[in-house]
Amino acid sequence: MARSATRLTPAVLDANLELWRAGARCWSSELHTFLACLGPAHTSALGSRQSLNDGDITAALCEQYDLTWSNLGDPRTPTTAHRPLATYKHWFWAEDKLHEERRTYLHTAAVPHRIALRVANFRFGHQCLRVNQRYTNENLPFASRTCSRCTSGAIDDAAHLLFECTGAALPHVRTRFGALLTPIPTHSDAAGQLQFISNTDNQASMAFFISDCMRAAQP
Ligand SMILES: [Zn+2]
Repeated sequence: MARSATRLTPAVLDANLELWRAGARCWSSELHTFLACLGPAHTSALGSRQSLNDGDITAALCEQYDLTWSNLGDPRTPTTAHRPLATYKHWFWAEDKLHEERRTYLHTAAVPHRIALRVANFRFGHQCLRVNQRYTNENLPFASRTCSRCTSGAIDDAAHLLFECTGAALPHVRTRFGALLTPIPTHSDAAGQLQFISNTDNQASMAFFISDCMRAAQP
């Protein structure tokens, strides 16, 4: 910006501020929207022509990021607002030690790129699960996003597909991945089961298990 600024730059910026004050959509209005979402301390920055402090903005962004990830509800609660994020946080979050000391399924040579992509999509809320139908054109009410592969009437979410569903040959898939699944403590709830396999040392097996369950659900 500084390198390409000319003597006209201040005038252009002033004109853009005037456009914003007049209610037009412009750079200044977009910058104001961004600053306003960072909190009250930044809302008036543009109007009062305060200089912007990179450090303050970075700290506000980090605070907002932490707040978002700390206030996510249970993935199985009907009122949870950001279900894909909540699902990722509570069920698929890999512990830090996984990134520091081991290779995840994304960087394991035994996992083909297309499988890694499928698994990554699944962890972030794949539309093969009816629980994610809200994010498609169907927009089903939560209570109607039930599994159509079995007769349990359960919500079709990631835990149901991987561990509970008795339809679509899924029990056979689980049998084939006994070495991955048997060590899961028997008293584990859905979160415990998913966290266990998300943090497994055998990341390739976890990736193939999820991919095979998806394939069984969507032949
Ligand atoms: Zn089912």
